[in-house]
Amino acid sequence: MGYKNPEDAKRKNKERYEAKKEFIKEQMREYYHKNKIRWDISRERNKKNVKIHDRNKNHKKKMIVMCYYSNGIPMCAMCGITDIDMLTIDHVNNNGAEHRKIVKGSSLYKSLIDSNFPEGFQVLCANHNLKKEIERHRYAE
Ligand SMILES: [Zn+2]
Repeated sequence: MGYKNPEDAKRKNKERYEAKKEFIKEQMREYYHKNKIRWDISRERNKKNVKIHDRNKNHKKKMIVMCYYSNGIPMCAMCGITDIDMLTIDHVNNNGAEHRKIVKGSSLYKSLIDSNFPEGFQVLCANHNLKKEIERHRYAE
């Protein structure tokens, strides 16, 4: 690291991001193939149903975010479970409530993508997310 001019650093960052994007795309393809999720087809079928279309769009955003923070196939950082329905984004520093207030619910994925995948997040399954919460409260007392 340590680039002499900021333009160089910016370009390098962008290159790294682009490379990662390709990697994520590849992982997503693999994941969808393995799990036989064919949401592209169901999306076609439900073209007129805007609600379902939106849900699929949000699901895709979730996949992208999960892939990014799992460094590949989406999985829980604690137990390695890969069921996307069970996975959540966890705020490593426990400031989830604060962050949620700002981004509000499902747009969390959008906000993470829009802000170029900020650090401080990890993928946990619902159980481990809950466990972390329980432990946090236990040790806070
Ligand atoms: Zn887990």
